[in-house]
Amino acid sequence: MQQDSKRVTRVVIAGGGTAGWMAAAALSRTLGKVLDIRLVESDEIGTVGVGEATIPTLVHFHRLLDINEQEFMAATQATFKLGISFEGWRARGEDYIHSFGGTGTDHFTAGFQHFWLKGRERGLAGDYGDYCLELAASREMRFGHLPNDGLNYAYHLDASAYARYLRRFSEHFGVQRIEARIARVDTDPVSGHVSALVLDSGTRIEGDLFIDCTGFRSLLLGQTMGVEYEDWSPWLFNDSAIAVQTEAVRPPVPMTRAIAHDWGWQWRIGLQHRVGNGVVFSSRYVDDDTARATLLGNIEGKVLTEPRVIRFTPGQRKRVWAGNVVGLGLASGFLEPIESTSIHLIQRGIVRLLQMFPTMGIQQADIDEYNAQTEDDLRTIRDFIIMHYKINGRDTPYWQAAAAMDVPDSLRHRIELFRETGRVFRYQNELFAENSWVQCMLGQGITPRAHHQSADLMGDEELSGFLENIRARIRRTVAQLPAHQDYVRGYCPAKA
Ligand SMILES: Cc1cc2nc3c(=O)[nH]c(=O)nc-3n(C[C@H](O)[C@H](O)[C@H](O)COP(=O)(O)OP(=O)(O)OC[C@H]3O[C@@H](n4cnc5c(N)ncnc54)[C@H](O)[C@@H]3O)c2cc1C
Repeated sequence: MQQDSKRVTRVVIAGGGTAGWMAAAALSRTLGKVLDIRLVESDEIGTVGVGEATIPTLVHFHRLLDINEQEFMAATQATFKLGISFEGWRARGEDYIHSFGGTGTDHFTAGFQHFWLKGRERGLAGDYGDYCLELAASREMRFGHLPNDGLNYAYHLDASAYARYLRRFSEHFGVQRIEARIARVDTDPVSGHVSALVLDSGTRIEGDLFIDCTGFRSLLLGQTMGVEYEDWSPWLFNDSAIAVQTEAVRPPVPMTRAIAHDWGWQWRIGLQHRVGNGVVFSSRYVDDDTARATLLGNIEGKVLTEPRVIRFTPGQRKRVWAGNVVGLGLASGFLEPIESTSIHLIQRGIVRLLQMFPTMGIQQADIDEYNAQTEDDLRTIRDFIIMHYKINGRDTPYWQAAAAMDVPDSLRHRIELFRETGRVFRYQNELFAENSWVQCMLGQGITPRAHHQSADLMGDEELSGFLENIRARIRRTVAQLPAHQDYVRGYCPAKA
């Protein structure tokens, strides 16, 4: 069993994108008094510059670090996000919303969807979204903080401004930033561990623990430690994106818009000062010029940046902690951005590292536990994302190939279970809860063949009253919320 009893006091973070600065912020805020933390980044190389939609776990991450929400939102031109609007995914012209929060009220034997399905059958139920507060609020473009976290939300943010904000935060807690290009990575011939980053100038940055946040290059984990990449493109066809920023011409919607095209999809993310847009697509089904033209034909407002092509291979490094290197962000892998999970995975990796921080020396048992937990997280998120492609009713070769593909057994079982019985179960520690699976599987086009008999125990009158109470309560709450735009302007206005 590998064991390195050298105390870990010097942490070197390679890379200063979202991953690097999130790691620096969290480590310095929690262990800054006992660690020497340095971060190396290269302005010349720059960052990937996208990654602007998040999920509610980021709210909690910021609370752990004591980050002031109003200050952070103003600094990053942020707006609120209540979910994702899937436009044309099930079929052309048919939309649904995957929102945060829960839908309706569950019974301990059966989720709310069973009562709703029975209600639909009896002509007593409205749209599934009428029973979800976050979804109803997003449709009305309203937002407000409710007591006891009564409205679940996340953020849309400017990724470059976020890195700058976290840099200031981290430097305040003692992180030393080094602006330079890493020319070489040295390893110890005996242990195989990384011993130093060698900069262009020849300066050696030595450390005990190295965090690889060098983006797709994966300088330490991939290139130096030789950890292989597991390619998930048989299930996730998209390998390219084109991103462009535009002027805002209307109030920002509190939802990420995900608009299906014949060969991929397009995102639209409204911030306070601008809109982030992009297409994600498979180069097997469309060329760059067509994708770019489609993107530019489906945006509003003046174009602020040159459209930029980004290539990627969907998948994951087989281990994310190897020797004394922990990979975070794109250096460790990338699942396409449809469910905004990358920043969440960075934050999971950081919290996990803090929980297993090798203060007294690096232990193989910690490494194995860290890698096993990460793998569990990733496989369930991967299945959730694949599901959006597998279940679709569109008619182009791209979508038809997705519908015909073989999916992992774990996902095939989930889809079958829902289709036959309406049941959904959340696996231990899984990111996406029952509500997400139900909203998306219904939204993508599955109508379960049956519902739980608990719903049959209610007569029409009782069922109708039960459903209507929930819907009316949600309508009342939403009506009292301010318009999203007004709330942002009052709560966290950013400088123009
Ligand atoms: C098209 C697309 C859309 C996305 N949308 C979302 C989204 O909506 N939500 C979400 O959560 N995530 C999204 N992501 C993922 C998200 O962008 C990343 O997870 C996040 O930005 C973290 O990137 P990073 O810090 O790992 O890498 P980068 O931003 O690429 O940073 C790499 C850093 O390493 C430095 N570096 C590299 N090589 C060297 C060297 N030799 N010397 C010195 N420094 C070096 C660079 O200068 C840079 O500072 C998206 C990704 C893509 C591709």
